Amino acid sequence: NDEIFKNVISHAKEYGFVFQSSEIYDGLSAVYDYGQLGAELKNNLKTYWWKAMVQMHENIVGIDAAIFMHPKVWKASGHVDGFNDPMIDNKDSKKRYRADQLLEDKIAKYEKDGKTDKAAKLQADMDDALKAEDLPRLKILIEEHEIACPVSGTRNWTDVRQFNLMFSTQFGAMAEGSDVVYLRPETAQGIFVNFLNVQKTGRMKIPFGIAQIGKAFRNEVIARQFIMRMREFEQMEMQFFVRPGEDKKWFEYWKEARLKWHKAIGTAPEKYRYHDHVKLAHYANAATDIEFEFPFGFKEVEGIHSRTDFDLSQHQEFSGKKMQYFDAELDENGKPYGNYVPYVIETSIGLDRMFLLTMINALEEEDLSTPEKQDSRTLLRLHPALAPVKAAIFPLTKKDGLPEKAREIMDQLKFDFNCIYEEKDAIGKRYRRQDAIGTPFCITVDHQTLEDNTVTIRHRDTMEQQRIEIKDLHWTIESKVSW
Ligand code: ATP
Repeated sequence: NDEIFKNVISHAKEYGFVFQSSEIYDGLSAVYDYGQLGAELKNNLKTYWWKAMVQMHENIVGIDAAIFMHPKVWKASGHVDGFNDPMIDNKDSKKRYRADQLLEDKIAKYEKDGKTDKAAKLQADMDDALKAEDLPRLKILIEEHEIACPVSGTRNWTDVRQFNLMFSTQFGAMAEGSDVVYLRPETAQGIFVNFLNVQKTGRMKIPFGIAQIGKAFRNEVIARQFIMRMREFEQMEMQFFVRPGEDKKWFEYWKEARLKWHKAIGTAPEKYRYHDHVKLAHYANAATDIEFEFPFGFKEVEGIHSRTDFDLSQHQEFSGKKMQYFDAELDENGKPYGNYVPYVIETSIGLDRMFLLTMINALEEEDLSTPEKQDSRTLLRLHPALAPVKAAIFPLTKKDGLPEKAREIMDQLKFDFNCIYEEKDAIGKRYRRQDAIGTPFCITVDHQTLEDNTVTIRHRDTMEQQRIEIKDLHWTIESKVSW
């Protein structure tokens, strides 16, 4: 499994999907850049989400809020006081760890060794300590379970401290008294503070949703697993505003709808599972994670949270502005529901984790051996709608007017589909390169093309080649790559 993950990371780099940020300066920890193909795949994932959420739901609209927000927002949301991770340092290696993660790794180790009772007990103890924010207790657990630093191997630990995950910076001129602002650690608050703006200007009626895609920033104590846990990442969030009392029903609706979305792009269904939260955050009355089986185990990709009226009520209190909705519909007694602060169901998915999941799910080394010859190919079996490049256009040779003809086809297609033109290398090698980046179609122009306006179209998954007329190319591609 380590091998699979390593292959994905090196494939992502080799073909221009993901680079380390500022690589020539040895990188910046847990920050990554998306390359020429990564940017395309990321955009396609965003489109898939936006279409499914905003375009397909008449009662969901999308916004694009600023990253900077008034500092009081983060007071109201609880992030200034509560968005912390318990941090511990090893005095010998000077390495910093999350206390809860050290304990989780130990629990996983107990489970692996078949010590399930021990694992369950430690889990319960840890949950209690986290819930009570009992930092000394976390340290005692680390000591009792003889957890050593993975680097130094010693158990010489500091005390556990709270570490706030928000990045802060100065706003305006650096004059004295200028305000500290935060880089948003989640996109959700931009939706909450705009709740009434959108509701009124869009004449939205409950139930309705507001969706957003955007960057979020968290100063994660430790960064690991490539783009799984980054300090700058992107979220796709939707807040669905409902009548109090109907929250449970909508929670169930979104739980199911979101898993369907994941499965609809061809990811192996058995790789997904729900993880219902037993211990809930103070603002939630139900929460579940959609987890995917990464090579390093089942991990959260998306959270679905029933957040009650917590956020809107907090903003009402901190801003002094009413965050209420007037519901003119009649209840069972024939009376209007009237004014209330709506309840909220949130769906929150990490775009980068979705990207990683997609690459892991798609990358495959396909065995093409025959009794005569050993052979294989590297294949990125992406859903055609997600593929960064939809069609590659090749002149068979660089002469006899074939490049000119291929260019003509390229010009006909490139506005509607992201296409690549390539004339270097033998045709077989060009096919393999496109397989490795997931291009669903390769179109080859040969001498026959000049006579009868037909080309060869090769299908990525089956490697089947067909002779078709140039005028049929557009719809052939369209029928496969459109949503
Ligand atoms: P985790 O427990 O893994 O830290 P979380 O519960 O803090 O995640 P949420 O606050 O629910 O995550 O954020 C919603 C989604 O945003 C997550 O499901 C995940 O896909 C994504 N996400 C959160 N933190 C990061 C990060 N540091 N890097 C990349 N994606 C992230």
